[in-house]
Amino acid sequence: MTHRILILGGTTEARQLAGKLAPRRDLDVTLSLAGRTQDPVAQPVPVRTGGFGGAEGLAAYLRDQEITLLVDATHPYAARISANAALAARQSGVPALRLHRPAWEPSPGDRWQMVDGAEDAVRALGAAARRIFLALGRQEIAPFETAPAHFFLIRSVDPVAPPLAVPDAAYILGRGPFGEAEELDLLERWRIDTIVCKNSGGTATYAKLAAARRLGIDVLMFRRPDTPDMPSAGSVEEALAMIDHRLTSTNRGE
Ligand code: NAP
Repeated sequence: MTHRILILGGTTEARQLAGKLAPRRDLDVTLSLAGRTQDPVAQPVPVRTGGFGGAEGLAAYLRDQEITLLVDATHPYAARISANAALAARQSGVPALRLHRPAWEPSPGDRWQMVDGAEDAVRALGAAARRIFLALGRQEIAPFETAPAHFFLIRSVDPVAPPLAVPDAAYILGRGPFGEAEELDLLERWRIDTIVCKNSGGTATYAKLAAARRLGIDVLMFRRPDTPDMPSAGSVEEALAMIDHRLTSTNRGE
């Protein structure tokens, strides 16, 4: 029996999971991307791109494509698609599981302050001018226009267009993973005193936090959004084991 798996992706882990599943002859795997990145990295399985049209659209896709297992391997902060995945799985009766990286935990010496998103971060920055590394997606930086007293360093995969409407900002392009030496150099070169970021988990973007600890830099970190309950894996290996378990149950007709 061939199982049809839909992986909701846009993360390194989704690509890695797809790579592990691609050679298997008992599986037909499709990876779904939102289509935000202009030049996405190559994927090891066929890709479909663009939104489904909400939970109903995703449920219809699951039924039409006769998907037998849905894997939500989106970014932990992509809350809407994760909510849609849970709802669509329920509506369509398709089993689903989530692959989300565990959150980072602070270590001694870290100067983290948790905030509830960009507006809250702007408030926490205060009035005194800071030199801020905004380690956020292009779509999430607009609220910082309300804090023009600060300098902003913005690193993104695709150019930020139009630029942020603030008097003092610099833009660099880069796609993770980033190493600690590279991040130390970046923070020192730009004389950064504050980082604003998410608690993404994983290794690809952790180095800036290790570098911040060494330099005693403040970090304003967005709290993770809530996601609906779903059987969840914290690593690709764990997800593979859960998928096999699920498929074995399906083969047995459970
Ligand atoms: P979001 O706010 O949760 O989703 C917004 C809408 O985008 C969804 O309702 C859905 O449209 C569409 N969408 C999102 N992910 C999709 C996917 N994998 N396949 C097809 N459609 C998808 O998502 P987001 O935060 O904008 O993130 C977009 C993508 O970037 C995700 O794939 C995510 O994994 C990746 N990403 C996000 C972050 C982040 O910090 N948010 C960081 C790195 C990568 P419809 O309702 O029309 O189906």
